[in-house]
Amino acid sequence: MRSRQIGALLLSAAALAGSLAACGNSGPTSAIEKAKNDKKLTIGVKYDQPGLGLKKPDGTVEGFDVDVAKYLAGELGVPESGITWKEARSANRETFLQQGQVDMIVATYSITEARKPKVTFGGPFYIAHQDTLVRSDDTSITSLDSLKGKRICQVTGSNSWKNIAEGTNKENKKVEVQLVPAGAYEECVTKLKGNAIDAVTTDDMILAGFAKREGSSLKVTGAPFTDEKYGVGLKKGDKETCEAVNKAITKMYQDGTIQKLFEKHFSGTGLQFTATGAPPAEGCS
Ligand code: GLU
Repeated sequence: MRSRQIGALLLSAAALAGSLAACGNSGPTSAIEKAKNDKKLTIGVKYDQPGLGLKKPDGTVEGFDVDVAKYLAGELGVPESGITWKEARSANRETFLQQGQVDMIVATYSITEARKPKVTFGGPFYIAHQDTLVRSDDTSITSLDSLKGKRICQVTGSNSWKNIAEGTNKENKKVEVQLVPAGAYEECVTKLKGNAIDAVTTDDMILAGFAKREGSSLKVTGAPFTDEKYGVGLKKGDKETCEAVNKAITKMYQDGTIQKLFEKHFSGTGLQFTATGAPPAEGCS
């Protein structure tokens, strides 16, 4: 009798040890679990988009996306000191999430149907609109139509050129353009200034950040033609974190933080904060 009891005890102890080991091996299954347990998160942001995500010479990062990411991390229980920043470029966002190189991406990342099978998106937390940046002396580009035949920047992994060439815009209009490849929007602006392209067309916030930095040599046409639903990229299936992020976004609107952050980074650029509440959530899938 006694030895049987001891045997049962040993068995359950072994089972407990086994399950603990399994826990340790598999690691956290979701970003929110990691946030709760370790008080740490690795977050992907842009490093070369002024106003949104920019790495400064002292190694720190700043911008609207960066501040939004800090707020969301805080709501998940992670202080700023617990955040490891990683450069997310337009082309590596999906793979970074799939490979677990980051826990979250806040990098002018539009929620699109094409990306949904690969990414679970929290949000949107803001809606931007695609617009066009040209040299100040250019009077030929004023609208989506007038881009016909022009040389525009094609950033790998970005949605913006597709919105023009493939017609995913409010007018459902495919415009024939000459696509000039580039790795990122910083490179596009260099190309525009050097006359290697005629226009940079992408989210108005990205353009506003560059236009502010460049001064009077460049101008934004102010003729938007898409809605860009800025989402929080999460590993596909991480619904628990997605729900928590959506709650935090609602709070960020209710407590006025989002407007403060928008004005901190975009006042004086001509962009206005007009939202009266959080955009409707896309749903965590
Ligand atoms: N928001 C657009 C996108 O996600 C353009 C900006 C970018 O590539 O970061 O494709």
